[in-house]
Amino acid sequence: MKKVSQYVVPPHVAFDEDNFKSYVIKKEKVDREANATVRMTRRSVDARKKKVKVNVEAEIFVDESPTLNISYKKDYPNVSDAKRVVIVGAGPAGLFAALRFLELGIKPIIIERGNDVQKRRRDLANINKKNIVNEDSNYCFGEGGAGTYSDGKLYTRSKKRGDFRRICEIFVAHSASEEILIDAHPHIGTNKLPKVIAEMRQSILDAGGEVHFETRVEDFNISGNEIKGVVTQQGDKIEGEAVLLATGHSARDIFRLLQKKEVEIERKPFALGVRIEHPQGLIDKIQYHLDDRDRGEYLPAAAYSLVSQVGYKGQKKGVFSFCMCPGGFIVPSATAPGEVVVNGMSPSRRDSQFSNSGIVVSVDDDEFGPYIKKYGELAAMEFQAEVERKACEVAGGTQVAPAQRLGDFINGKVSNDLNETSYQPGLLSVDMRDVLPQAIAHRLKFGFKDFGKKMRGYLTNEAQIVGVESRTSSPVRIPREKETCEHTQIKRLFPCGEGAGYAGGIASAAMDGELCANRIAALYCGVKETS
Ligand code: FAD
Repeated sequence: MKKVSQYVVPPHVAFDEDNFKSYVIKKEKVDREANATVRMTRRSVDARKKKVKVNVEAEIFVDESPTLNISYKKDYPNVSDAKRVVIVGAGPAGLFAALRFLELGIKPIIIERGNDVQKRRRDLANINKKNIVNEDSNYCFGEGGAGTYSDGKLYTRSKKRGDFRRICEIFVAHSASEEILIDAHPHIGTNKLPKVIAEMRQSILDAGGEVHFETRVEDFNISGNEIKGVVTQQGDKIEGEAVLLATGHSARDIFRLLQKKEVEIERKPFALGVRIEHPQGLIDKIQYHLDDRDRGEYLPAAAYSLVSQVGYKGQKKGVFSFCMCPGGFIVPSATAPGEVVVNGMSPSRRDSQFSNSGIVVSVDDDEFGPYIKKYGELAAMEFQAEVERKACEVAGGTQVAPAQRLGDFINGKVSNDLNETSYQPGLLSVDMRDVLPQAIAHRLKFGFKDFGKKMRGYLTNEAQIVGVESRTSSPVRIPREKETCEHTQIKRLFPCGEGAGYAGGIASAAMDGELCANRIAALYCGVKETS
């Protein structure tokens, strides 16, 4: 017999496998002698009421073999050299495209400027401990892209739940925890992601694909209105049926190269602001309505999502939380020396004593309009770069980040001292209004005030803001045809993922990688059935 049931249970039942099994067996009155399998299929914390509950769904199999939970199979056919596609960038878009090409019998050749996940750790240590930023291998660049050393939140606004499930299953097939198939807000964690990514690379290599690290694409080989391939910094020319360009939102050299070669690109709005850090215990207390800051053994570190509309010079714009990392760390995400950029990551257990989140404001032509005359379609990118350079300059020119206690920021007072932080290079107390453009600082101030009303206790000097959170999405779009995903002007060029403006996170970048692979296979590799 198979049954699917929903329950509302306390955390010690929802987050402990044995407790949960006993609970279900008792609840369903399953005979003690029967052979029963209980499989949790859905779990979401509901903290709206004073007493936190967890909504859970489970499948129960009694005297019956459980059906397969995962339909994705990791057996890729060996590919030949007959059809090959060049993929620039080994982020989620590039890697998932490569795996899809293998399924379709096409050879992927991945070109990645950064190091593999193991060597990349050294580059990250150099940023954190010595303030040395390797321009090719850092928190944004290197194997797995910007998503490897992150929280590994898997989230998408896409309505295609089947595609999202498939992405999660591919992660699970490469050693991610099956919990990501269950949780309403799944995440993998920075301690687990490198192994998952390395396993994906191994799948690609085992099936005959190629992965070239420490190889930066410096030029495109374009003839007429068609791309033939790419040229690396070593001068090697690599050609294929098509070029999938998945270089992420931080590849400024690629955007400049496209502009120089007069390949159509478009400036685009993005979001800019700061990262806020609170003690995790405080966020737990607020979100779980606790008397003290101890959430106990079972509840996960609490998250939040906040949004407010704030006017400036008669115009309202959204101020919102972005990429919240409960129990996490703030990390230095610059891709070049002379700039300071912050972002967040968390381990799988989300057990650091800090909570952090980006708090950002949408920026558009209102802010970067004055840059258009000089930089054309790179206006938004150059505006972004200037704010990052300012953040670096104000904080002393290293990876030390400018910061201010939250209450002091609201009151326009430089903080006498700062709180403990998870940000390893260290913080310098400054007036954040010296770092942020005026409109952004104004909107943040009133956004925080509103957040303080929505979450009592949030607005406190125990929190501090750290600048700048500027790589929220790409400041450039590389336009492509809606149906084919091919560049609007250059044949066989497929702009893909976040850098091209078609994704906003790990899961959506992965889905876009698969989509572009399907389109390339159908258009240029003679594959009939692609999806
Ligand atoms: P990217 O991941 O940016 O990958 C692009 C790749 O291209 C990089 O590896 C880069 O080295 C390579 N490249 C660039 N230029 C060249 C060149 N010239 N030649 C060769 N290779 C090149 N998103 C989430 O959904 N959840 C999270 O929890 C999350 N946390 C994050 C934490 C941090 C610290 C950061 C920085 C980002 C985080 N993000 C998160 C965002 C997420 O990582 C990105 O949305 C996602 O990685 C985009 O995927 P992509 O493949 O399009 O590009």
